[in-house]
Amino acid sequence: MNDTQESTGRPLRIAIVGAGPAGFFTADQLVKSKKVEASIDLFERWPTPYGLVREGVAPDHQSIKGVTRIFERVLAHPRVRLFGNVQFGKDVTREELRALYDQVVYAVGAQTDRRMGIPGEDLVGSWPATDFVRWYNGQPECVDLEFDLGVERAVVIGNGNVAVDVARILLSSPDVLAKTDIAEHALDALRESAIREVVMVGRRGPVEAKFTNVELKELGALEGVDVVVDPADLPRDLEEVASRQDRRVARNLEILADFAGREPTGAPRRLVFRFLASPVALLEERGRVRAVRFESNHLVPDADGALKARGTGEFDELDAGLVLRSVGYHGVALPDLPFDSARGVIPNHEGRVLDRSGGKVVPGEYTAGWIKRGPSGVIGTNKACAAETVAAMLDDAASLSENDAPAADPDSVVDLLDGRGTRYVTEKDWSRLDAEEVARGESLGRPRLKLVRVEEMLSIIGKGEQ
Ligand code: NAP
Repeated sequence: MNDTQESTGRPLRIAIVGAGPAGFFTADQLVKSKKVEASIDLFERWPTPYGLVREGVAPDHQSIKGVTRIFERVLAHPRVRLFGNVQFGKDVTREELRALYDQVVYAVGAQTDRRMGIPGEDLVGSWPATDFVRWYNGQPECVDLEFDLGVERAVVIGNGNVAVDVARILLSSPDVLAKTDIAEHALDALRESAIREVVMVGRRGPVEAKFTNVELKELGALEGVDVVVDPADLPRDLEEVASRQDRRVARNLEILADFAGREPTGAPRRLVFRFLASPVALLEERGRVRAVRFESNHLVPDADGALKARGTGEFDELDAGLVLRSVGYHGVALPDLPFDSARGVIPNHEGRVLDRSGGKVVPGEYTAGWIKRGPSGVIGTNKACAAETVAAMLDDAASLSENDAPAADPDSVVDLLDGRGTRYVTEKDWSRLDAEEVARGESLGRPRLKLVRVEEMLSIIGKGEQ
């Protein structure tokens, strides 16, 4: 018998809010732990699990989605249950989870985008890239968004991997995308797209760009697309500069130098890299975005020596009918939970929730993933992040006594949700949805055809008419 069972006489009962990568890596490590016997309930606001793997990872990056095989094994574990279509704060509250579980983990990711804070940001035709990503990935909330792709030029603000993803999807051949699990409505719209040029703009230089090598290189291999990099934007002593950088930056510089050396082929579409420019306003024509006004930048070290963009006082305008700001995600506060609104995270120390930033530990509550550390890193980064949280949970579990532990029956949560009329989706229900999507995709030669409406999902699993 392990520590927790000795002290409480039953498995440790854990609720995880958010069935994305951070939630699943946490669950995986908990069920595999030899220190405790944990039973885990995963609560997810959508009927479908996997979070960013489903709604964030680009459809033409199927290999990254292979991580769901690990998550499927977690869901198949007899001590793991899924409660999908359950919204935290509405269908189940913090207080209820705390009463029903020994430990609660919040792993809800970063649900919104950062803003640029410039005039015209909310004009028609200006969008957060995160909305565009959720739209082409078929996230139910974004299905009905209408992106006007009948324009010639799109500007993507930012030099991270999300900027790269949206630029690539805008410029990819629809026939290539038709072999992926891109949402059908997005594929239809992209087939009609008139976009001929995407300009991706970094406020700092090529050395400071955040994209990674594979993603950058892929942009140079897009069918029917010329990539344009001004050689003057690259350091003159490129090899010397590269030798002082980490491998990612050095390789990015090599790739950009390759792009800069290419002759235009007259391809039908272009991707233009622009560096050292900040948008200062979006300009309007008849209520829509018409152009972006930029100020050129130079780089100056801040107090810590990091290079920051500073305006030179030179301005220019670039016509654009679509503007996607890809300047990072931002966490959203959960009802009743402490929140650090500047950083967009739940205040925590190594995964233990704190009552405020730098404050006291709130016993029994934990956090993992982007809502714990901010929106950085790739899907796999969440594994190490979860490991830190799980270590804290296991340490704390050893000192739980029967008095601390809720005695509620594991089915109390089912009664609670049933009593509220919540049509929760179980792991078996999800298997049906999954099989349905794969079957619908099969005849089209696609990995799956995503269901994008919650009502349709619920009706397929026979919960539509409840
Ligand atoms: P990110 O990597 O943090 O990049 C944000 C970009 O926005 C940076 O270039 C940043 O410039 C710029 N920016 C921020 N504020 C700005 C402003 N006010 N004006 C102009 N530019 C501004 O964020 P992300 O692209 O959203 O990606 C989030 C995380 O997901 C990253 O860790 C990323 O690697 C990961 N991801 C991975 C993949 C993949 O593996 N294929 C795909 C998508 C996302 P500064 O550097 O100057 O701040």
